[in-house]
Amino acid sequence: MKIEIDRDECIGCGNCTDIAPGVFELDDEGLSRVVNPAGADESTIREAAESCPVDCIHLYDDAGNKIYP
Ligand code: SF4
Repeated sequence: MKIEIDRDECIGCGNCTDIAPGVFELDDEGLSRVVNPAGADESTIREAAESCPVDCIHLYDDAGNKIYP
């Protein structure tokens, strides 16, 4: 799975970092970034993406197809 965050859209709510702290962290700007795409299982990463109020976490499968949102 590939994870991309549209940081222009991120509001720094912390939902993703709460659900998958091994994958996401809030940086010095208070915006989420990916620290380790393998830091949680795929269902947890998907749950984190679904928790994002602005849907700015984009998930792709290994073939590059978008799987969320
Ligand atoms: S859940 Fe979305 S808006 Fe909230 S910190 Fe994570 S990426 Fe940003």
